[in-house]
Amino acid sequence: MNRISHWIDGRIVESTSGRTSPVFNPATGDQTAAVGLASLDEVDAAVAAAKAAFPAWRSASLSRRAEVMFRLRELVDANRKEIASLVTAEHGKVLSDAMGEVARGLENIEFACGIPQLIKGDYSEQAAGGIDVYSIRQPLGVVAGITPFNFPAMVPMWMFANALACGNTFVLKPSEKDPSVALFLAELLAQAGLPAGCFNVVQGDKVAVDAILEHDDIAAVSFVGSTPIAKYIYETGTANGKRVQALGGAKNHMLVLADADVDMAADAAVGAGYGSAGERCMAISVVLAAESIADELVAKIAERIPAIKVGPGNEPDNEMGPLVTAEHRDRVRGYVNNAPEEGATLVVDGRADVPADGYFLNPTLLDHVTTDMACYRDEIFGPVLSVMRVAGYQDGIDTINSNPYANGTAIFTRDGGAARQFQFDVQVGMVGVNVPVPVPVSYYSFGGWKASLFGDTHMYGPEGVNFYTRAKVVTSRWPDPSTSSVDLGFPETR
Ligand code: NAD
Repeated sequence: MNRISHWIDGRIVESTSGRTSPVFNPATGDQTAAVGLASLDEVDAAVAAAKAAFPAWRSASLSRRAEVMFRLRELVDANRKEIASLVTAEHGKVLSDAMGEVARGLENIEFACGIPQLIKGDYSEQAAGGIDVYSIRQPLGVVAGITPFNFPAMVPMWMFANALACGNTFVLKPSEKDPSVALFLAELLAQAGLPAGCFNVVQGDKVAVDAILEHDDIAAVSFVGSTPIAKYIYETGTANGKRVQALGGAKNHMLVLADADVDMAADAAVGAGYGSAGERCMAISVVLAAESIADELVAKIAERIPAIKVGPGNEPDNEMGPLVTAEHRDRVRGYVNNAPEEGATLVVDGRADVPADGYFLNPTLLDHVTTDMACYRDEIFGPVLSVMRVAGYQDGIDTINSNPYANGTAIFTRDGGAARQFQFDVQVGMVGVNVPVPVPVSYYSFGGWKASLFGDTHMYGPEGVNFYTRAKVVTSRWPDPSTSSVDLGFPETR
C-alpha cells in the first residue's frame, strides 16, 4: 500500500505515529494509499524546522523572495496537468475542473511575485520639527495553514504564497482525504529555491490540528473548512494568543428576478450548482426564483440536467465526478431522501442510474423548498440544487439576509438599478451580478461574513498580506546633540 508522509525540513519524513487514514479514489471506491497521521512529536519537528528557518528567510531580500515566487510560478505552470491529475485521483473532481483550480491557485503565486511593491510602508517627512515617521510591515514568524478537502491545491496556494513572500515560514496541515498534492507543491517550492524548513507539511487529523493550535512557536493560523470546525479553530487559536482567520461553510443563494434572461440564469444555475459535484464553498445551493418566472426556470434547469456527463474525473468528456467519500455521498443522499417528506418537490432525482462503483450521485433538483426544511437549513455540499419561490426582490433579499451563512451570492437581472441595490443591501461577503460563482481575483481578497468567517481578515490579496505581517511605526530624528535638553512634556507636533 502506498504510504503518504510528511515533508519536514526539505525532505519526506515517514510518520511513525502508528496511526493512518485511508485515501480513496472516489471514482472507483478503491483505497489507493494510507496517509500517516502526525503525532505531537511530528508536529513539533515541523514547527522546529520552520522556526529554525525563519531568521534567514525573513532576512532574505525582497528580490530574493520574489525570485522564489517567480520560479514557483513557472514550475506550477509547467506542472498544471500533474497537479490537476493528483487532485482528480484523490478528490474526484473532473480534470478540467481541477485544471481550473490550479489556474486560480496560480494567480495567488503571481500576486505574491509583487511582494516588493505590496509590502511597502508609508513615510512622512517632517511629521514634527526634524522628525520623520514611517511604517514597515514585518513577518509574524511560523504560521500554519489547515485546509479542506475540496480544493487541495488552490486553498494551500491562497495561504502559503503570501505567507512565504512576506517572510514567514509555513506549516501546512492538508485534508487527510486528499493529502498528496501538498507534497507535490512542497517539491516544487524546493525546486524553486525555497530554503529547507521554510515550508513543511504535516499530514494529520484533530491531533495535529490541536497541536498546531496550542503550539507556542506558531504565531498565526489560517483555516478553511466547515463552520463548526472554523469556529473551534478561531476560539482555540485566539485563546492561545494566535492571530486566526477561519473561513467556514456556506449556503449560497442566486436571486433570479422576473426580468432576467431565463436561459442564461438556467445555464448559470446548472454550472454553479453541479460544478465540482456541488463540493465548492461558492457553489450555488439555492435558487430564489421570482414567482412569475419560477416554472419556466425550473423547467429550463431540469431540461439541462440529462446532458451533464457524470463519471470518473480522469475521462476527458466527463463534466461532473463523484463525491469525495462514501460517507459524504450517503449524507448528501439523505437530504434527497428526506426532502419530499418535508414537502419539497423532487423534480430530478439524482439517486437513479448512478455508476455502480465509486461515490457518485447524479444532479438533483428540488423545487418548492422552504426555509424550515433541512435541505435549506444545512450546507449539503453535494449536487443538489434547491429552488425556492420568492415574491420579488425584497422577499429574496430578506431570505438571503436571514440565513446564518454569508459566503457568496448572486443576482440575475437586466435591471442595473436592482443589481446596484442588491450590492448595497445584501449582507454577504462576495457578490455576483450575473456572475454565479463570484470568487474574487487574487488582487482582491476572499471571505464571507457571519457564520462563513471567524476573524477579521479575509484571505489572500491585500488582506492576506496584512494578515501575514505586523505593522511597526518608527519615529526618527537626527538632531544636533548640542541642542539636546531634558523635556518632561508630552511631545507635540506643531
Ligand atoms: P472540515 O471542516 O471537515 O475539515 C477542514 C480541516 O479541518 C481538515 O484539514 C480537517 O482535517 C480538519 N478537521 C476536521 N475535523 C476536525 C476536528 N474535529 N478538529 C480539528 N480539525 C478538524 O471541512 P472539509 O469537509 O474538509 O471541507 C468542506 C467544508 O469546507 C465545507 O463546509 C465548505 O463550505 C468549507 N469550505 C469553505 C471555504 C471558504 O472559503 N469559506 C472554502 C472551501 C471549503
